[in-house]
Parts: sequence; C-alpha cells; structure tokens
Amino acid sequence: MIIPVFVPHKGCPNDCIYCNQKSISGQTEEMAGARMREIVERNLSSFTGGRYIEIAFYGGSFTGIDKRKQLELLETGQYYVNAGFVREMRLSTRPDYINEDILETLRKYNVRTIEIGVQSLDSEVLRISQRGHGIREVAEAARLIKDYGFRLGIQTMIGLPGDTREKDIITAQKVVEFNPEVVRIYPTLVIKNTKLESMYKNGEYSPLTVDEAVDICAHLLEIYKENGINVIRIGLQPTEEIREGAEVVAGPFHPAFRQLVESRLMLKKIEEMIERMQLGGSREITVFAPEKELSYITGQKRCNIKSLKEKYGFSKIRIIKSNEFRIAN
Ligand code: SF4
Repeated sequence: MIIPVFVPHKGCPNDCIYCNQKSISGQTEEMAGARMREIVERNLSSFTGGRYIEIAFYGGSFTGIDKRKQLELLETGQYYVNAGFVREMRLSTRPDYINEDILETLRKYNVRTIEIGVQSLDSEVLRISQRGHGIREVAEAARLIKDYGFRLGIQTMIGLPGDTREKDIITAQKVVEFNPEVVRIYPTLVIKNTKLESMYKNGEYSPLTVDEAVDICAHLLEIYKENGINVIRIGLQPTEEIREGAEVVAGPFHPAFRQLVESRLMLKKIEEMIERMQLGGSREITVFAPEKELSYITGQKRCNIKSLKEKYGFSKIRIIKSNEFRIAN
C-alpha cells in the first residue's frame, strides 16, 4: 500500500512545457511535517493489518527542494518506519538532482526506491520540452542510484512535441539498458495553464489520439515485459483534476487506460498465435486463458472479439478459463 505525499513543484526552477504540478497533484498547499503526519495517519487508519506500506513522495523534484524541508519530511517518514507502521519510503525527482551527496543523505533514511523523470531519451524531444537536462544526466543518475543500492524507477512520456513512435521505442530500449526495477509510462496530456496548452491552441502541437497512445504503450509494455521490468503505471490516475473537462484540455486521457493497453497487447499475442498456427481459415476458435487474463482477451466493449472476427472471418470465438494460455480450433 502506498501513502502518497505530494510535494508540488517545490524547488523546481524548471518549466517543462507540459507541466502544471499543482493541477497534476491537485494540491496547491505547501507540504510540511505536520500536514504529512495528518496524511500518513489518515491513510494508516484506513488500512487493514498485515500490509506492506510505503510512503511515496510524488509530484515534484524531491531532492531539489530546500534541504531542511527534505530532512523534515524524511524525518517524519522515518518516525513511522521506526514505529513499525511503514516499511520504506520512495520518492521521485529529476535526473540532474541526483548526486553522491544526495544519495548519501537518502541512504540514512529508509528510502528504498528513487524514481527519475526521464520522459524521453531523444535529445530533440528533451530540448523542445524544455526539460533542462540531457541524456548524459539521465545515464549518470541511473548509474549512481543503482551503485548506491537503491531500486531504480524510470518515468517516461510518449507523444511530447517532436516525439514519434520510433523514438518512443528507442527510448524504451535504452531504458532497459539502465536495468530499472520499475517503469511508468505517461501519454502526454495537454493540461491547463501550461506552455503546451498555448502550443495546442496555436496549432503547433497535436496530441496523440487514445488509439495511437494505446498502440504505442502496448509495444512499450511488451518490451518491458520481455525484459522482466515491472511497469507499475501506464497513464495518469484519474482524479478530480485529471479528467477531460477539468484540468485536461486535450490528449489521450482514458480512465481505464492501462486496461486498454493490456487488451491491445493481448490482441497482438492472439493474432501472432493464430498466424503461427495458421488458424485463419477456421470458422471457430477457442481461447483458453487464466482468469485474470479473460477481460483483456475480450477487450473493452468486446473490441478484441470484434476485431478478430473481422480480420480472420471467425463466426465464433469461445473463451474458456484455464491454467494455461493456448488457442485451439
Ligand atoms: S521538472 Fe518536474 S516539476 Fe519541474 S517543471 Fe518539469 S515536470 Fe514540472
């Protein structure tokens, strides 16, 4: 279980074109020890026992905020770790806010996972997005985090200005080389009061459609799965602010985005099996799969079933719960 503690835009001198941290985190108030205690206590009281609980500092560049504030928040978290309520802490930050001194400090507390916002490993995309760091800083931060024994998390984005499907795939392949434990993939959304919103309104930027974003993410998910890397999030979590008509002006937002991506990947897997087994001429097929995969096979509004029928001319597709995944005619 994660207890999220949002530290919005604190200490961040950058202005990435897509970012309005206050909207994303839904929080404009400063984070301090007392407020963090309230959040942690409220979450702890709602959890049932026996859970693995982590405190996660999200929302900004934790290691870029005022050092006293960092220590105040880390000490607050450490109190709950020492008391046995929380097992560890995790945080997210920018690649250029990682160095040996910073990691020495974090090592003194129970910070176990450090996620870095990489977004893209294409220098042109980084430049247009005004990230303020290059690929070299990412590689150095990833190496240091691993060398110091932390779990490494990498956050990437797709559909930024200047980005392409090919660049996203190359980015994922390079991310694999950093050997992270976890990855997050965020399709770019146009958020209110950002430079990207102006670019969108001036016609200088077109966001991906949901279908394009799902297709790219399915490919990236496959790359990470093949390399044993856990993709812990795909798409921003829907909140009061993160939904169409609220802070999201445009872009591939869907409240069940991950489900769409997993279903698309499943469709690809089934198509590959059908073609390998040359079942294209059959009238009927049966797909056997573990229970947790069944909804991915059908897809939202039965879209995978419709697509398979259309593509291969099947009149019937049976889906049967089984321990193993296989297809028969
Ligand atoms: S570095 Fe992070 S917090 Fe700062 S502007 Fe960029 S995305 Fe926002």
